[in-house]
Amino acid sequence: MQVYYDRDADVSLIKKNKIAVVGYGSQGHAHALNLRDSGVKDVVVALRQGSASINKAKAEKLKVVSPAEAAKWADVIMILTPDEGHAALYNDHIRDNLKKGGALAFAHGLSIHFRLIEPRDDLDIFMVAPKGPGHTVRSEYQRGAGVPMLLAVQQDATGNAHDIGLAYASAIGGGRAGIIGTTFREECETDLFGEQSVLCGGLTSLIQSAYETLIEAGYAPEMAYFECVHEVKLIVDLIYEGGIANMRYSISNTAEYGDYVSGPRIIDEGVKARMKEILDDIQSGRFVSQWMSECAAGQPSFKAMRRRAAEHPIEEVGEKLRAMMPWIAEEALVDKSKN
Ligand code: NDP
Ligand code: MG
Repeated sequence: MQVYYDRDADVSLIKKNKIAVVGYGSQGHAHALNLRDSGVKDVVVALRQGSASINKAKAEKLKVVSPAEAAKWADVIMILTPDEGHAALYNDHIRDNLKKGGALAFAHGLSIHFRLIEPRDDLDIFMVAPKGPGHTVRSEYQRGAGVPMLLAVQQDATGNAHDIGLAYASAIGGGRAGIIGTTFREECETDLFGEQSVLCGGLTSLIQSAYETLIEAGYAPEMAYFECVHEVKLIVDLIYEGGIANMRYSISNTAEYGDYVSGPRIIDEGVKARMKEILDDIQSGRFVSQWMSECAAGQPSFKAMRRRAAEHPIEEVGEKLRAMMPWIAEEALVDKSKN
């Protein structure tokens, strides 16, 4: 496995290119601002008419153009809009406008790996996929650090795709933490699996089930929230810093003993068997085709699930308790009015 750092990248390769970042959401704002702060002069943000993001990008003095104009102008166009809209964006605005030998770049492999986009043969296709939320890509860069990133080349029409991708990753801060060489397939399948089984799906379901168990047993919501939600971060910080062993060093012996005897009763072989099913749904393309049909229908069940989840009592009690800890908001990564 190849890991690159800033010393391996030639950032001048990206500085001499015109870069268009399509979308100014979680990843978009971080890429555009980090590129500019790394000395890349020709950066524009591409947004569709009427987008609420236009004013956010303009407030940072970034130039905003339409996706078609951006595609005509750019040497490298980085697609940072939601995956479900990539195919229409490419077909309607990019395919006939991007110059011969231009680079089409992504932060996630889904639309290329699952062939939602069939790109022109003359283009370079690369991916720089930060292994962290966009707001963290920005905040880490600003404090002189970075989040790890994955780099992959799907199509190398010019012979420069790898070096330009590496320069791009370095310019947005990846070279400080490590840029790992991979493929679109590996990034895409592991990313979907990780977010479904652990980072998003697994973790939120685990938290919610534990919270409900305490509430149903008659304990106070405040107790359940602190124990099953708030403390997750404190434990994860210890794992992040020094691995699982480091976390176990810090907790009490009682907590550690409970970890060994009860953890495997909660996450048992049945969970692993279902994780394998989930991985199979991802690898076979079943998950992506189900998600794309949901999108084609206007996302009715996605929106209903989002609404129901937001109405869970855990959100209400959390809001009340967090209000008593003002430092959390002061250090917030997300400011919806700006990014
Ligand atoms: P967001 O949902 O945050 O992107 C929203 C932005 O895209 C808004 O500015 C929105 O403007 C704009 N947008 C949406 N549709 C279009 C369009 N058709 N034309 C122009 N602009 C459009 O996306 P994310 O940052 O979450 O994801 C972007 C990419 O990065 C995805 O491929 C994702 O898989 C990948 N990724 C995301 C991570 C993350 O941290 N979120 C982590 C790693 C990879 P408006 O709708 O107002 O027009
Ligand atoms: Mg992910």
